[in-house]
Amino acid sequence: MHEWALAKSVIDAVINIEKEEELPSITEVVVGIGELQDIDIDIFKQAISDIKLNTPLNKARFVYKTIPAFLKCNNCGHKWPYKKSIEHLSEEERENIHFVPETAHIYIHCPVCGSMDFEMIEGRGVFIEEIKKAH
Ligand SMILES: [Zn+2]
Repeated sequence: MHEWALAKSVIDAVINIEKEEELPSITEVVVGIGELQDIDIDIFKQAISDIKLNTPLNKARFVYKTIPAFLKCNNCGHKWPYKKSIEHLSEEERENIHFVPETAHIYIHCPVCGSMDFEMIEGRGVFIEEIKKAH
């Protein structure tokens, strides 16, 4: 049900961002999905297409884009892709991080200064990346 709630909030958000009368001219909505967002993409897409039918967005095309996760070191400011930092980890370690993201600090260090003090700056959440309209 998580996916349906998310889909509903994305559609509500598009409708809120745009003025009601301009809605029918929206041709495409680009939805960014963080690489680490824990949702079933297929269910989410299905939910979007079902929910939009009863809204002024029923003719708009929804496009989905995966946003890669990045980590940023709080010590030296270095940024690096999350994918690269888990390349050397075992399946089990990756799963640990997936379910309990805080454990990432045990396995991942800044590749420049070795600090364990870093944060995830992208790759989480679902958001509206772009709204395209007919001219
Ligand atoms: Zn660093």
